[in-house]
Amino acid sequence: MIFDLHCHTYFSDGMLSPDALVERAKARNVSVLAITDHDTIAGVGIAQKAALEASVQLIPGIEFSSQWGRGGVHIVGLGIDTKSAVLADAISRQAQAREARSIAIGDRLTKLGFPYALTGARAYAGESSVCRPHFAQYLVEVGAVKNINAAFKKYLGAGKPADVKYQWPLMDQVIRWIHDAGGVAVLAHPNKYELTRTKICALADSFVAAGGDAIEVISGLQPSATTEDLLRIAAERNLYASCGSDFHVPDQPWQELGSFGQLPNHARPVWELLGYNTN
Ligand code: MN
Ligand code: MN
Ligand code: MN
Repeated sequence: MIFDLHCHTYFSDGMLSPDALVERAKARNVSVLAITDHDTIAGVGIAQKAALEASVQLIPGIEFSSQWGRGGVHIVGLGIDTKSAVLADAISRQAQAREARSIAIGDRLTKLGFPYALTGARAYAGESSVCRPHFAQYLVEVGAVKNINAAFKKYLGAGKPADVKYQWPLMDQVIRWIHDAGGVAVLAHPNKYELTRTKICALADSFVAAGGDAIEVISGLQPSATTEDLLRIAAERNLYASCGSDFHVPDQPWQELGSFGQLPNHARPVWELLGYNTN
């Protein structure tokens, strides 16, 4: 049974509609899928209908941006009650924060000679909040850079001229939101914040102190040594283990739905907390 507990639709920075995402999951033999868009649950309701028809089991999820020390970390909420008032309030705060940040990025890019960057990014965002990849797409469109990666390297990435440091809500706060909404809090892809192992352990300790439940020990294709190391970090702290592709777009084989291998047998899978037993 394949559980993919982390992926995106076009309601954040993914490319597919919720329907198309569910179809793709079905085609790739994913049995249980969690949709975890950045700071929104807008895709979950639509996906639920498609999932029923495709007999894919859908877990309502979200990926919140949060602040840990001076950096941003992502916390996934799984099995959240999409009707929760606390969640609705949290989502509207995050939308305001994203809006403020996108205006600030737009101002920076205006000064750098791209006065229509925000308008352009909004066009790519469509119904969703503007995210940095939308600015990147615009910069590619106007020929400022060759591709999305180059847009981050030259303008949008950490320390670059259009990098706006935004103060997200503290990790503790985000975990409380997820718990208030009846969900399970998962520290997303701890190996992707460019932290040393010592710092990853410190992050995991803070996460435990804040009441977090699980660590994503697999995020897309990665060396099995990474998985084993993250599993050790989880086990030492009595945390459950989660796994997902972090799927965004169809042409990135290292982030493809369902294709990241299995959780090792000695892992304590997070889906036990969600009412699934695979033993
Ligand atoms: Mn993303
Ligand atoms: Mn993330
Ligand atoms: Mn993600």
